[in-house]
Amino acid sequence: LEEALIRADVGVGTTGTLLEDLRAEVEHKGITEPDALLEQLKGDLKARLAQGDHELTYEPGSPNVWLFVGVNGVGKTTSIAKVAKVQQADGRRVVLAAGDTFRAAAAEQLGTWAKRVGAQLVRGNEGGDPGAVVFDAVERAAARQTDLVLADTAGRLHTKVNLMEELKKVRRVADKPPGKVTEVLLVIDATTGQNGLVQAAQFTEAVDVTGVVLTKLDGSAKGGIVLAIQTELGIPVKLVGLGETVDDLVPFDPDEFVEALFA
Ligand code: GDP
Repeated sequence: LEEALIRADVGVGTTGTLLEDLRAEVEHKGITEPDALLEQLKGDLKARLAQGDHELTYEPGSPNVWLFVGVNGVGKTTSIAKVAKVQQADGRRVVLAAGDTFRAAAAEQLGTWAKRVGAQLVRGNEGGDPGAVVFDAVERAAARQTDLVLADTAGRLHTKVNLMEELKKVRRVADKPPGKVTEVLLVIDATTGQNGLVQAAQFTEAVDVTGVVLTKLDGSAKGGIVLAIQTELGIPVKLVGLGETVDDLVPFDPDEFVEALFA
């Protein structure tokens, strides 16, 4: 079991904690069969992953801002497009904010997705102030009775203080009336492995992450790092990305996820 958990990227520390709890349960319940042992562990993991709020928070009244944060290449832009499509299908009006002003290509890419899913786009100049872009998007949303601003952010150098300072500022600006930040979604690539926990700790310290979007779970990676993120930081997984098209997004299902860890 230890090997299975470590191979699934749960991480040595969290694996140790999980197995320690399992040992106590085994003793307490007098479990002697291997099958019962596995079921006990799966039940424990499912309960852990089910903790917290897995719904996306939306508060009617003013434009809600959902910030997408994470390092480059994890799937932020793609996830924004996927979420935009689902939200629009639910009847919400959506504007996308190209808050990664560092790379012109990022705004271009978001623009392409905006057209494809029929959402509005607000972008600024390359190298411009990302906070200003997000604030423009909020004002536009308020003026046009738009429900949601989905904001992309820069993801370079997550280890550098200046990016985190910039993200804090973007969050503050986005939270100014008429806007209200109701989700900060950290996008984590399932193939990243242990570094995902480091990323989660850093981003949540800066911008108070409310949920994880786990992308690229369609490959061979099992994404066990989210168990560490949930156990050590208390951040729930909300969405799962299962491919590169705009329809490849599903709500997180703890049962299915845990079964797949041991499959
Ligand atoms: P960003 O830099 O964080 O905005 O990342 P992008 O959205 O540009 O995505 C980076 C790459 O990952 C692109 O090639 C996407 O098509 C791919 N990608 C994003 N989400 C998924 C997913 O759930 N599954 C797979 N297989 N690829 C994905």
